[in-house]
Amino acid sequence: MRIPTYRAYTLSNLDQIPQISSLSARQRRAIEVVGRVLPFKTNNYVIDELIDWTRVPDDPLFRLTFPQEEMLDPVHFVRLQRALSTNGHERALRRIADEIRLMLNPHPAGQLEYNVPSLAGRRLPGVQHKYRETVLFFPSAGQTCHAYCSFCFRWPQFVGMNGFKFAMRETESLVAYLEQHPEVTDVLFTGGDPLVMKTRILRRYVEPLLQADLPGLTSLRFGTKALSFWPYRFLDGQEGEALLALFRRVVDSGKHLAVMAHFSHPRELSTPAAQEAIARIRATGAEIRTQSPILRHINDDADTWARLWQEQVRQGCVPYYMFVVRDTGAQRYFGVPLVRAWRIFKQAYERVSGLARTVRGPSMSTTHGKVQVVGVTEVAGEKALVLNWLQARDPDWVMRPFLAQYDEQALWLDELVPFNSAGWEFDPGAGEYDRNLAA
Ligand SMILES: *Cc1c(COP(=O)(O)O)cnc(C)c1O
Ligand code: SF4
Repeated sequence: MRIPTYRAYTLSNLDQIPQISSLSARQRRAIEVVGRVLPFKTNNYVIDELIDWTRVPDDPLFRLTFPQEEMLDPVHFVRLQRALSTNGHERALRRIADEIRLMLNPHPAGQLEYNVPSLAGRRLPGVQHKYRETVLFFPSAGQTCHAYCSFCFRWPQFVGMNGFKFAMRETESLVAYLEQHPEVTDVLFTGGDPLVMKTRILRRYVEPLLQADLPGLTSLRFGTKALSFWPYRFLDGQEGEALLALFRRVVDSGKHLAVMAHFSHPRELSTPAAQEAIARIRATGAEIRTQSPILRHINDDADTWARLWQEQVRQGCVPYYMFVVRDTGAQRYFGVPLVRAWRIFKQAYERVSGLARTVRGPSMSTTHGKVQVVGVTEVAGEKALVLNWLQARDPDWVMRPFLAQYDEQALWLDELVPFNSAGWEFDPGAGEYDRNLAA
């Protein structure tokens, strides 16, 4: 297979995208305006192998990385467009973009403050420990991606706003923390995308975990969208080989290695490069589990999800989560109401065999845990939504279903009303995004 050289495209070299001339002036303008607020980066693989340029701008894979006018509030869009067309100063433009960005709620419900553990009284800023068994780790060298999803709420990490960056240079304090927390079975490397790191850097993070005496640690996971955005990461000569060798080392050490792959659309599984990469990863003994949010304009129909799960199973991947997106970034553009998300999930789930029914969802990641929309039922003649905790800060809540009043419009838990007049015992106003949402 011919491996192309990685080439990133951002606002600064938009003109060099060969297919860009097929866009109308207005579509192009929209990229330039909206790309000031939402991070825009795509690459030659996404452009040449994933996007169907005959269907642009409606193509789901185009929308996945290219900003669209409708992703911003019209008032914000006009304000920024005006500043741009009057040749505003770079600094003034940046200030407007920052203001809009802050209004888009970069870290819902104080994510920066929650779940950051301490070690000997010192906070560990690159670590998040929310659920007893699993620690999230944000290696500082992995805080970017091979391309950016236009819906991604992690953009504060990419656009260089001070203080927003989760980072940790050393694995040492993570190891020390794990030594004190034998209840932790899983370390999940996340980002950004930890697989943007060169293998020798990644090895520096992983090997101390294998060498340390951590008998309780059974599983390492890498959250990644590299299989969708740059599958050559696993195929490219020495770098690819070295990464697969590292995977084998983890497996040979007796630990479970899970690649938590973010796939939003079946087309991402269709290219020869993606299929070859999946096969090579599986040959190392690593498992590939898959997850994605449900997104309006990209994958909000049952047929797409059924095909997505079936194709994953065919290639030996294990469907894992369908997530719900919440109010940050361009949620109004991408948001799917909970009832509709459940209906799509159900219709897709009905159509696939048990091998694909390992998937769980639709799931909201809230301050208190992951809440699944189980379905719609009737209690004493009244329609109700059944919800369930898949994960909870308090493990006792897990698998305790609860009820909300039926609501076709609600996009998130905090818009639902408890079915019982006594209310619910958690504070639904607080909401938090799942750092494990995607990559
Ligand atoms: C989803 C998630 C995890 C992992 O949960 P699993 O159900 O074990 O996959 C860990 N930490 C946070 C904060 C999460 O949102
Ligand atoms: S969803 Fe994942 S791959 Fe996409 S931009 Fe966000 S962190 Fe990167």
